[in-house]
Amino acid sequence: MSKNSLPDFNNTELAFRHLSDKDLSRGKMLFQLLSRPWLVKLGSVLARIALFVKFPIGWAVRPTVYAQFCGGEDISDSEETIELLYRSGVRTILDYSAEGVDTEKELDSTCSEILKTVTAASNDPRHAFAVFKPSGLSHNDLLEKDPSKFTSLEKEAWERVVRRVRSICATTSEAGGSVLIDAEETWLQDAIDKLAEDMMTDFNRERAVVFTTAQLYRHDRLAFIKDLASRAEEGDYIVGVKLVRGAYMEKERERAEKNSYPSPIQVDKAATDSDFDLAVEFCLDNLDRVNLFCGSHNEKSNIKLCEMMKERGLSSDDNRITFSQLLGMSDPITFNLAAHGYNVAKYVPYGPIREAMPYLIRRAKENTSVAGQTSRELTLIRSEIERRKR
Ligand SMILES: Cc1cc2nc3c(=O)[nH]c(=O)nc-3n(C[C@H](O)[C@H](O)[C@H](O)COP(=O)(O)OP(=O)(O)OC[C@H]3O[C@@H](n4cnc5c(N)ncnc54)[C@H](O)[C@@H]3O)c2cc1C
Repeated sequence: MSKNSLPDFNNTELAFRHLSDKDLSRGKMLFQLLSRPWLVKLGSVLARIALFVKFPIGWAVRPTVYAQFCGGEDISDSEETIELLYRSGVRTILDYSAEGVDTEKELDSTCSEILKTVTAASNDPRHAFAVFKPSGLSHNDLLEKDPSKFTSLEKEAWERVVRRVRSICATTSEAGGSVLIDAEETWLQDAIDKLAEDMMTDFNRERAVVFTTAQLYRHDRLAFIKDLASRAEEGDYIVGVKLVRGAYMEKERERAEKNSYPSPIQVDKAATDSDFDLAVEFCLDNLDRVNLFCGSHNEKSNIKLCEMMKERGLSSDDNRITFSQLLGMSDPITFNLAAHGYNVAKYVPYGPIREAMPYLIRRAKENTSVAGQTSRELTLIRSEIERRKR
């Protein structure tokens, strides 16, 4: 495979060669089900009820949505997925997404689990980054509140949050790895941005260890990235930035309307797309100062990034640029990029089935609501099944 040619996301042979016929049939069945919004709605409600009354649902979930979108119940259970991806040149980002954690004990235990992912990734070329959601390490009300108004108990709790975040970043730095800090809702994000920038200032002196995240569905994020880069220039450190469009659009708009403040979200999809492209361009033009992690399932965005790299004479495996998709989604993008030598990694969520349910419900809804995404996945899977019959 020539490293200079651009990937073709319609190449289903390369896209799915890591999957058996059985895996493909499962994918086809699943995406067929996900293409029916009423079924996804009904399934989500039933799953929530089953979780609430502690009805065992593992038997139904494990071989279907869980097998599609999750690596395993713990790190060792995810081994098969990690190896399968790596054999096709795709690296893993172990994603322990604890949701609804509340007590200090639970927050500490999430931190320990994330540290395990850092250790697992250390000296193992199959892993790309570690990742965490700050809301798994802090109460949401602390992230939301203005620190100047903290009570003394809140101050202590916040110091524990900072200690958790710092221990993850320091351990990653010592292990020679990199860590992504996920972005969340705007009302939590100011605190997260500040934490991420503090960590970059401390750990990104020689290379990009810590990556912050910018959601380009926000109309203020392009300016945010540029400001971040100029502060990094002044402070002489490197910015790592994960660019995504953003996952909480409906929630953001509803809250803004309910509380009568201007929506932080762009006026339309075209405006989000345009800022996404401009942000990618800005990173590429400032690569020595800003390392780029592009998290997207959008074919145009991914191919545009490949084209922009080519125009600038950057090699496809430039280690300042990473592409990424979620496990079980957009394999044609991931595996065709890998076959052309790009740095590409999958988020591999893991955890006990019950704890993974909120994540799986979100994936099911996202695959239903993103116009064209499911039908695109389905079309390509069908065409590969037909190709294999020939
Ligand atoms: C590896 C990876 C990591 C991720 N990490 C995060 C994270 O840390 N935080 C986070 O919030 N999300 C994260 N996401 C999810 C991401 O933000 C998107 O929700 C998802 O990837 C869909 O966007 P897209 O670029 O893949 O595709 P597309 O289908 O092209 O874009 C869909 C997105 O466009 C935006 N959009 C849609 N309609 C409109 C509209 N009318 N007006 C304005 N904007 C609109 C929304 O953001 C929507 O999600 C991540 C995704 C990936 C692949």
